[in-house]
Amino acid sequence: MSDTEIESSELPDDAVDPEPQRNDVELSVDGLVKRFGGITAVDGASFEVESGAMTGLIGPNGAGKSTTFHCITGIHRPDAGTVRFQGRDITGIRPYECADYGLVRTFQIAREMANMTVLENLMLPAQNQLGEQLWRSVLPFARQEVEREERELLERVWEVLEFFEIEHIAEEKAGNLSGGQRKLLEMARALMIEPEMLLLDEPFAGVNPTLEHKLLDHIHELREEGYTFLIVEHDMDLIMENCERVIVMHQGSVLAEGAPETITSNEQVIEAYLGGEV
Ligand code: ADP
Ligand code: MG
Repeated sequence: MSDTEIESSELPDDAVDPEPQRNDVELSVDGLVKRFGGITAVDGASFEVESGAMTGLIGPNGAGKSTTFHCITGIHRPDAGTVRFQGRDITGIRPYECADYGLVRTFQIAREMANMTVLENLMLPAQNQLGEQLWRSVLPFARQEVEREERELLERVWEVLEFFEIEHIAEEKAGNLSGGQRKLLEMARALMIEPEMLLLDEPFAGVNPTLEHKLLDHIHELREEGYTFLIVEHDMDLIMENCERVIVMHQGSVLAEGAPETITSNEQVIEAYLGGEV
């Protein structure tokens, strides 16, 4: 029996939690704090992300959205609070461990990779894992195994390329891609790790409207396959139209959380974030 079950069974009947039955929680952040010198970038943020849902994380510039992402995925170690993924406490995890658990954030294609082709870029994340087993390639039986894994890896790469409809740029150098194509590649790379949940920080920045729609279609398709998404995006309309749940951050903590309709009518949100424009 979990702690919460014990607690609720001790409550009198009329005090039973009136909240409607929630779907499974994929990610939960509780009392997260991150300071940089005198700045408290994240100041006690708490929220939950439902499994298989698309959740939007919004808030004005400097609200602490990116820092929250970095604390979740191990780029930063939080000063306080806990992060749970699929029920497991992953607070202060290392980024590579995070990927092993199936929680992945997209990141920009680094400058060193601009000279590599799209195909090579996609081979890289998984190849790093294979590379660790390099010693095995000196053993005859193990070498067969490594070759088999490499074949499977290449198959996976082509699957992902086809999914994003970017097979035609497989041999193109990453540095020659358009802004939008680069965004597709970034997401394709994340998928190579075979995650269960993706954190996207402004995935549509610098993407033209046509490609933005395409990218959104891909995200919806993946969502239907069961992937969970948490998306930071400044375009309110886009978030309201595409997300089932929205979390609003303001000055490092969560100001409001709920269905899009409840967010747009929330007085505090209108005042603090939208400046009364809605
Ligand atoms: P958002 O993504 O919501 O725009 P950030 O998480 O990037 O906000 O930033 C929140 C606050 O923390 C800002 O005041 C920002 O200047 C500060 N901050 C973020 N990262 C760092 C850092 N590495 N060092 C110092 N201050 C930082
Ligand atoms: Mg940011």
